[in-house]
Amino acid sequence: MIRCFLAVSLPEDLKEILREIQGRLAAETSGVRWVRPEGFHLTLKFFGNIPEEKLPALVRAAERVLQEFRPFELVLEGLGFFPESGPPRVVWVGLSGELEPLLEMERRLSRAFAKLGFPPEKRPFHPHITLGRVKDGRRSRELRARAAEIRVPPGRFRLDHLTFYQSKLHPEGALYSVLKEVPLGNA
Ligand code: ATP
Ligand code: MG
Repeated sequence: MIRCFLAVSLPEDLKEILREIQGRLAAETSGVRWVRPEGFHLTLKFFGNIPEEKLPALVRAAERVLQEFRPFELVLEGLGFFPESGPPRVVWVGLSGELEPLLEMERRLSRAFAKLGFPPEKRPFHPHITLGRVKDGRRSRELRARAAEIRVPPGRFRLDHLTFYQSKLHPEGALYSVLKEVPLGNA
């Protein structure tokens, strides 16, 4: 079995921006397990553990959906938390730019994967890049205060493919490896 998800990978210059923000937050707070900067991504679908034989059908379904989309541009926007109020569990950077094609792509992928036996998420899709996960909430007020002081530069990138990743869980944080890249149409 492989633990698998489909995500937007990010170019190095954006990862650098995110790494810098993460570093500023990490310097003044504790109790957060930070995502490895090389692993920053935007998840579109989490499959969980699947038999490896199922991957080709998922890739074909994604290829069919993605060929209907032309590359589009996304922009980093602002720090946020899940849940929105109260003790945060997840610290993330949000997105702006051409969100309509992104949301439409997620809807169509969700439908395609549902037909293959992967039920859609119950929660609405909220595109975000996770920077860290709070493990000890005792300094969460401080974390919110620090985040409020940070301005995220509007780093732009062109989304022209999605990536199937394998995730291997480790106590120090998950390690991701690329299983398959799927291009958008005319990418
Ligand atoms: P860790 O679980 O050790 O904190 P991680 O969350 O980065 O690390 P995974 O749990 O393998 O690693 O998750 C891979 C991606 O899928 C992440 O973006 C994660 O947020 C997302 N994800 C994980 N579980 C779910 C889930 N049940 N529903 C939706 N997305 C999920
Ligand atoms: Mg996880």
